[in-house]
Amino acid sequence: MKYIKEAFDTNWVAPLGANVTAFENEMCDYVGRKYAVALSSGTAAIHLGLKALGVGSGDYVFCSSFTFAGSCNPITYLDAKPVFIDSDYETYNMCPEALKKAFKKIPKPKAVIVVNLYGNQANLVALQKICREHKVPILEDAAESLGTTYNGKQSGSFGEISILSFNGNKIITTSGGGMLLTDNKDWRDKVLFWATQSREDFPWYQHEEIGYNYRLSNICAGIGRGQLEVLDERVKRKRQVYELYKKEFAKNNKISMCNATVGSNPNWWLTLITLDKDCKATFMDIITALAEYNIEARPAWKPMHMQPVFKECEYFCKDTKRDVSGDLFGRSVCLPSDSKMSDEDVIFVASIVNNIVS
Ligand SMILES: *Cc1c(COP(=O)(O)O)cnc(C)c1O
Repeated sequence: MKYIKEAFDTNWVAPLGANVTAFENEMCDYVGRKYAVALSSGTAAIHLGLKALGVGSGDYVFCSSFTFAGSCNPITYLDAKPVFIDSDYETYNMCPEALKKAFKKIPKPKAVIVVNLYGNQANLVALQKICREHKVPILEDAAESLGTTYNGKQSGSFGEISILSFNGNKIITTSGGGMLLTDNKDWRDKVLFWATQSREDFPWYQHEEIGYNYRLSNICAGIGRGQLEVLDERVKRKRQVYELYKKEFAKNNKISMCNATVGSNPNWWLTLITLDKDCKATFMDIITALAEYNIEARPAWKPMHMQPVFKECEYFCKDTKRDVSGDLFGRSVCLPSDSKMSDEDVIFVASIVNNIVS
């Protein structure tokens, strides 16, 4: 409220101002990056990030299939072609072997969008190695993983360009918003230019390129600055919620949970459970049982290769006969994971789930 009040008191009620600049600087310090551009959404950040990487009409862009549509919709805004990559069972994230297969068939995509799903970091060591061999940049979609660490660095520091989201459902929010992070000044300058309608440096309104109205409001950035102050607390609590669920399901051999990628300490934005293949209960049974107590649980993201709108797109799996992300989607459910939940709340939810799955 202090930061928002400052915005009104100084009359910077606009998509620029002191909060926007400070929020960018504070996030650079937190994540450990040189440059940030605060934008109106994570989707906008992916859009301009891909554009900065040179994605254009007819180009291929690889993207994790197991994700939210915001990761890949921007590929189509640029008239490029999404190509989806399967996950592995170890991390639920992009499978390096599947990525290799995609490179065999399509050697020159313009970019690879790697998602850190539900806060678990993707296996960036393996994925970066493959992408570097092919000289293709990574756009790291860290929309769900702010606060996650991986090999001693913050999530959001691994892509040539990385993006964050501050949508209402994320670990911290600005009500709606996003950010692009990079160490490349030219890309930062370009993205800032495009995000403010590509206004050239003239006394009058001069435009030589198509632009967008994608900047974050100074009011929303004020929310973001306040939220950044509670981020570590939230990450801590999300991890406790995950650990508590894990303990409660330890004796239930029909339930497994995604483990942290080697080197990753996830923020566990959402705790996801996966039912055994021979479990009689379905993820919908769990959602329905919890709904009777007015508790909301949700299906996992339906993978992009299964979405009608992307049915023409290519999809690469490690083993052509084994669709890992499709399988995980069919057996998984996101449990309530709010940082405001008490231990008793978590234990209560787990008891209902254990009852159904027994
Ligand atoms: C939320 C989300 C986005 C999109 O962010 P918005 O701010 O909602 O546009 C992109 N990718 C992933 C993985 C997300 O969870």
